Amino acid sequence: MSDTTLKGRRIQGGVRPSKTIEMTRICADSGCVTKLSKYNRREFCFAHAPVKFPRVRGRIPIDGAI
Ligand SMILES: [Zn+2]
Repeated sequence: MSDTTLKGRRIQGGVRPSKTIEMTRICADSGCVTKLSKYNRREFCFAHAPVKFPRVRGRIPIDGAI
């Protein structure tokens, strides 16, 4: 055995923690208790998201037309 033997070294410094929100959050909408994923950084759940995409595909419903 000699002193020139290469030895592996453990990674120093530890593992960098991921940027996730650890605390459990719920939807910001009053009365909604939907839990938000810690990976979801929004304030509202999917149902109460402020941005709404209307599902009108070229047809605008007119009262009395149906
Ligand atoms: Zn909600």
